[in-house]
Amino acid sequence: MLIDCYECKAQVSDSAASCPHCGAIPLDPARSLPVDVSDLDMKFRTMFWFLIKLSFAAVPAVIVIYTAWTVIGGVLSPLLHM
Ligand SMILES: [Zn+2]
Repeated sequence: MLIDCYECKAQVSDSAASCPHCGAIPLDPARSLPVDVSDLDMKFRTMFWFLIKLSFAAVPAVIVIYTAWTVIGGVLSPLLHM
C-alpha cells in the first residue's frame, strides 16, 4: 500500500523504514513502531512464561525420577547382594 510522505508528499510504501525521496522517518509511527515493540514484548512474555512453566514442570519430574530411582535401587540392591 502506498501512502503520502508527510515531509515531501511523495508516494511511499507504508512498509518502508524511511522515505526513499527525503529520508523522513518514521513514515507512520502509530502503525510501524508499536507493532514491532508489542511483537517483541509478546515474544519476551511467551519466552518468560515458557521458562516459568518449564521450571514448575521440572520439579515433579525430578521428584518422580528420584523416587523411581530410589525404589528401583531399593529393590535391586538386596538382589544384587544375595
Ligand atoms: Zn519524503
